[in-house]
Amino acid sequence: MSFYDILQTWEAFPFQLRLQGYREVDVQRALGKPKLDAEDLLALLSPAAGNHLEEMAQRARRITQSQFGNVIQLFTPMYVSDYCVNHCEYCSFSSIYDFPRKKLDMQEVDREAAAIAATGIRHILLLTGESRKDSPVEYLRDCVKVLRKHFASIGIEVNPMSVSEYQELGTAGVDSLTVFQEVYHRETYANLHVKGPKRNYRNRLEAPERGCEAGYRSVNIGALLGLYDWRREAFIAAMHADYLQTRYPGCEISLSIPRFRPYLGDFQPDSEVTDRALVQVLLAYRLFLPRAGITLSSREPARLRDKLVHLGVTKMSAGVSTAVGGHSQEGGTPQFEISDERSVSEIREMLYRNGLQPVFKDWDILVPN
Ligand code: SF4
Repeated sequence: MSFYDILQTWEAFPFQLRLQGYREVDVQRALGKPKLDAEDLLALLSPAAGNHLEEMAQRARRITQSQFGNVIQLFTPMYVSDYCVNHCEYCSFSSIYDFPRKKLDMQEVDREAAAIAATGIRHILLLTGESRKDSPVEYLRDCVKVLRKHFASIGIEVNPMSVSEYQELGTAGVDSLTVFQEVYHRETYANLHVKGPKRNYRNRLEAPERGCEAGYRSVNIGALLGLYDWRREAFIAAMHADYLQTRYPGCEISLSIPRFRPYLGDFQPDSEVTDRALVQVLLAYRLFLPRAGITLSSREPARLRDKLVHLGVTKMSAGVSTAVGGHSQEGGTPQFEISDERSVSEIREMLYRNGLQPVFKDWDILVPN
């Protein structure tokens, strides 16, 4: 039994019909409950809840303060390879694009890590394109050994792996895993993932569980909002997080709320995700999953990030480049355009201005050198 089996039970569910059917009274009922169920989550993602964002925001703020205090954890993604064997319609690293690919050697990894660490960042997210040939476990393990000199916490966002591979990287020093399903709607998933092993929907869907099985302290999932109807996608992503929280209570489960961003190609997603829609997703997540971490990335503009810091967010990226070696080298090709280009110190000051404490380190790697 995995989340794949649970997802089957939702496949035929008439989301559009049900979402349109919720009324104010259903939203009020959900807002009045101490613990929300799937029905309440749907009500909070429905069009009717769009008129109740202020009430949802007040409750989300209270929950966030009581569960997490006035803190936001900061991290930076670090890209070490843009080689990828997949063709995903929404990504510059897709194998169909012809640009000079880069993969950092260990000296370059060290320089890139030092440049990021100099900004104060201590939590790093190691990213690659997905290619077992170009960024195999051995390469990632070597990267992690170098990163341990600079950082207190190391996460990975790489191709899905087996439990034993995740454990191998855990032994090297990795403590958290990020795997986005990108889009939970199966037909859309098949259409947007044109070529490569990423077409294996189930293998990707079950990767977060394998990370939990491997003993990672933190696992982060999400849907790339805009690739399919955002209300349905947000609902399934939250149910996925709920499943992981229940099944793996020792693992901190987080959700990201990324929106589609411009990239090398000209694909445009079907489903528009307005700022209000993004806020509604964030608030619904916080109310449904009070203990879950929620990550807000630099895909979002500074003005919006500044407004959302009180409403459920627990982690933010800062000082971001989505190009390989982007902190220490010129000439990399970004995976996608970011929106908030502020430095780590600018984000830190913004949080202080908002009465929040930026957290650079809340963990330390406990593996022998
Ligand atoms: S989204 Fe990931 S797997 Fe898909 S093309 Fe980009 S880097 Fe490769």
